[in-house]
Amino acid sequence: MILFKQAEPLKSYLHQQQAVTGFVPTMGALHNGHLSLIEASRKATGITVCSIFVNPTQFNNPDDYRKYPMTLENDILLLESAGTDILFLPSVEEIYPAGTGQLEHYDLGYLESVLEGAYRPGHFQGVCQVMKRLLDQVQPRQLFMGSKDYQQCMVVQKLIELEHMPVQLVTCATEREPDGLAMSSRNLRLQPEERKKSNAIYNGLVYLKNNLQPGDLSPFKQQALRIIESAGMQPDYLELADAGNLKLVQEWDGKQPLVALAAAFMGEVRLIDNMAMNA
Ligand code: AMP
Repeated sequence: MILFKQAEPLKSYLHQQQAVTGFVPTMGALHNGHLSLIEASRKATGITVCSIFVNPTQFNNPDDYRKYPMTLENDILLLESAGTDILFLPSVEEIYPAGTGQLEHYDLGYLESVLEGAYRPGHFQGVCQVMKRLLDQVQPRQLFMGSKDYQQCMVVQKLIELEHMPVQLVTCATEREPDGLAMSSRNLRLQPEERKKSNAIYNGLVYLKNNLQPGDLSPFKQQALRIIESAGMQPDYLELADAGNLKLVQEWDGKQPLVALAAAFMGEVRLIDNMAMNA
């Protein structure tokens, strides 16, 4: 694996290789979810680039940024054993040479007004700012992202369209722990007792998938919320939405493709998850 800290040498190296480039952007503290993206990229492309960059502009909560887990040595070992070709490890200055004060604003419309957009103001602007930079620097043919961050995938697809970028987004399935908890770097911050109960979000989503009936969806949402709350978690939201456009659905005809999305705090750690209901 070759390590680049600067974009220019990375760009010229990739240019020389003339291979189809696959790109897996991450914020580090890597787990099997990230490695599944690396594997998907290795299967589909000639060179796999993984970036590790904890992007300051996407944290609406400064404490969350400060406490974001960093496990770089272990990340490097994992990436090497997964067969990653290139690790891109830029500094904040490399990504934002003119500082973070005056960055672009992207018109994300409705997508920015619901769910994560509503609960984390500015978050998706930050995601777009860093993704635009990284995609310009790496210029991949394919971009591999996890459907665990369902709304983020939709936002990045929108960014690709807005900016007419020649890259294909490939969304990969969510990797889970044996008890169902979606793998996440933030799980490292859970206390052991909290960790044991954090699969309640997954249990709430599974309840919905197994029980949902056409008609008014509120009783099902309430029961799923009870499952999450009874584990001691504080939900931000639990909603059912059209899987294609994320419009919230209250009355279901039994056919419209639905995704259930939830965010909840366990102590001070905020976790998100989602599940396709009828795919
Ligand atoms: P992050 O480091 O959390 O920014 O995540 C980097 C990429 O890994 C994003 O595309 C995530 O959606 C993806 N990812 C995170 N957790 C998982 C998971 N449990 N399964 C699959 N992909 C994931």
